[in-house]
Amino acid sequence: MREVESSTISRRQLLKATAVSTGVALLGRRQLFATEEGIVPTMVNAAAKAKINVQPLRRNISVLEGSGGNIVVLTGRDGKLLVDAGFSVSQPAISNALGSINADPIKHLINTHWHTDHTDGNAWLHSAGAAITAHENTRERLSVATRVEGWSYTFPAAPSGALPVTVFATECELHRNDTRIVLKYYAPAHTDSDISVYFTDADVVHVGDTWWNGVYPFIDYSTGGSIDGSIDAAEANLAMFSDKTIAIPGHGPVGGRAELTEFRDMLVAIRANVAALKKQGRSLQETVAAKPTAAYDAKWGQFLTTPAAFTGLVYAGV
Ligand SMILES: [Zn+2]
Repeated sequence: MREVESSTISRRQLLKATAVSTGVALLGRRQLFATEEGIVPTMVNAAAKAKINVQPLRRNISVLEGSGGNIVVLTGRDGKLLVDAGFSVSQPAISNALGSINADPIKHLINTHWHTDHTDGNAWLHSAGAAITAHENTRERLSVATRVEGWSYTFPAAPSGALPVTVFATECELHRNDTRIVLKYYAPAHTDSDISVYFTDADVVHVGDTWWNGVYPFIDYSTGGSIDGSIDAAEANLAMFSDKTIAIPGHGPVGGRAELTEFRDMLVAIRANVAALKKQGRSLQETVAAKPTAAYDAKWGQFLTTPAAFTGLVYAGV
């Protein structure tokens, strides 16, 4: 039920583009692949073809999967509140999915961080009626042209309607639809703009891209991310979750404490392996060749970030 439907071809393209853009940029051989489609157009094309799956979670909270990062929807008399916006190419599919829940108007949007697969839909959702809230760094990153080296891509400044109007630095509390929502800033982790969005009464939390459930994460060093910050955020999430918490990752299926623990353990183990190799004086190429992720690749290496690319992302931060 949670499976995002996308064609075999688009999945192959995703894998190929990631090997090219993420891994190769880090490995310094980008020129060899200059004609290949980059990761960002590939993600957009995949979103354009994807179906949006609606999964009810708890109380009046659902998750929409299929366009970029996972989208949470809270419904009620104050109108729909969304957490993350997906890609704008998915507007028709997301509109249909929202309409399939109920007819409540769209009134509020929270961004978990600034990345395009979570904010590209900001402009149309704002036009549809959403007031946007995010961390102050999300607004700052979206306000200007921003380069993500790991994606070999420079994003233009977002249109003014796409910018969050309510921003905060460390913590912020909202009340919508008889629900208390606590927004909390992590220290720099996946980027320097990551927040958790915790629906306290339902014990449901969206942790954005501080958690990729079952796949290697991307880490955006260009805008403040690091492997150590990512491990710290995973620890912060574990401290926040109870055994009953329903947790929505930025990417991958909804899960909880057990899956998040596995993710944290994977990050810690691979960091140790890569750090040991780097300490021996191995170059990035030599480190990749030593396969420090081998024990984890069958499970975690099947999506956007390839084993070689992830090794590069860890190597850059140890
Ligand atoms: Zn992200």
